[in-house]
Amino acid sequence: MRFLADAMLGKLARWLRIIGYDTEYLPSASDEELISMAESESRLLLTRDSELFRRATRRGVPSLLLRSTTIEGELREISGAVAVRLSGETRCPLCNVVLVEDEKSRAPSSGGSIWVCPRCGKFYWHGTHWLRISATLRDSGIA
Ligand SMILES: [Zn+2]
Repeated sequence: MRFLADAMLGKLARWLRIIGYDTEYLPSASDEELISMAESESRLLLTRDSELFRRATRRGVPSLLLRSTTIEGELREISGAVAVRLSGETRCPLCNVVLVEDEKSRAPSSGGSIWVCPRCGKFYWHGTHWLRISATLRDSGIA
């Protein structure tokens, strides 16, 4: 499953990337561009805009109209509609590129693995932020 998030769903796009989903986010794209991209790249269009949802559906492009305004609620709506689960892979929340493990370094306090984004070079590890992410995913019924 690949996603395309509309301009209002930037935070959701970052979350979907963290849990491993290829998620495009083009905040300045027009409705027409979003629909065309969802169609040509077989992405599920996520939107809170009922007009965009209606236009996509009329064109036969799969779209999900989200009503929630919290990240937990949005993730719950998605997991209720499609099978979303943790893939074990993580993408850079900024670049949508799969992170690679950095074999040479270890996380500061836990000594766990560190991942690096091959595009922007940012490092990631399972710190306290990850515990909050895990709790949110459990609340959303995903993990
Ligand atoms: Zn990156």
